[in-house]
Amino acid sequence: MLAGKTALVTGSTSGIGLAVAQALARAGAKVMLNGSRPAADAEALRVELSAEAGVEVGYTQANLAEPASARALVEATIAAFGSVDILINNAGIQHVAAVDAFPDHTWDLLMAINVSAVFHTTKAALPSMKAKGWGRIVNIASAHGVVASPFKAPYTASKHAVVGFSKAVALEVAEQGITCNALCPGYVRTPLIEKQVVDQAKVHNMPEDRVIREVILAAQPTRQFVEADEVAAFAVFLCSDAARAVTGSVQLIDGGWTAR
Ligand code: NAD
Repeated sequence: MLAGKTALVTGSTSGIGLAVAQALARAGAKVMLNGSRPAADAEALRVELSAEAGVEVGYTQANLAEPASARALVEATIAAFGSVDILINNAGIQHVAAVDAFPDHTWDLLMAINVSAVFHTTKAALPSMKAKGWGRIVNIASAHGVVASPFKAPYTASKHAVVGFSKAVALEVAEQGITCNALCPGYVRTPLIEKQVVDQAKVHNMPEDRVIREVILAAQPTRQFVEADEVAAFAVFLCSDAARAVTGSVQLIDGGWTAR
């Protein structure tokens, strides 16, 4: 479905980003993986995905908290594959704390990775997409891009920002064969969430299975995690030609959370 396309997935060594990278490769796209760790750490992952999917897979180390690194990541992808046709802005961090106890440096870091990096990679990738008259940008926002939770004000602000940015970019490039959408998952079981399960179990003095059902998934009516593979399948659809008319949209995959 995506043979001949090239894709860059930020933060793709674990969780949702890895699942999206795997799904894009299986759909035939060449994929550039990214993480903040040295290439040697991701070599087994890169080789395994390339062999399994039968496509070229690269890896570029980049700390997306640094604008120059975000730009260099896009440049490295273009140097390796000739273009960036598909950009999945996935890298993100979370920190749970009351606003008046939230560390200033963590706000800065969260905004740098969750918001500013999306700007820098998009800005750097758009000329390549415009030159081809085809492009797909999928920004992994969150249900927190449309609703809020207490103790997650910076994360909520960052994901609302990504939703707004996605809409504005979509309008700008609407006549150039490029789509830009925000994909908003509810709770997906990934390393980012595993940490919250452990933390919340301590705070509530509850076993982890109860914390998952009664605390973590309290807002998610299905009371089941969204699977990373389900988010990935949705992302692949948004990158397909069949999704040509889907742009500027906010796609929720949240087990009914935001229907409340
Ligand atoms: P995760 O912790 O498994 O993955 C996050 C990825 O971002 C990792 O690959 C990590 O290496 C990368 N990353 C973090 N900081 C980076 C940096 N400075 N430079 C480069 N890469 C960096 O988490 P996940 O749950 O898979 O989250 C992926 C995205 O999905 C995030 O944007 C997150 O906000 C969003 N999301 C997650 C959930 C969920 O329930 N897990 C729900 C909604 C949205």
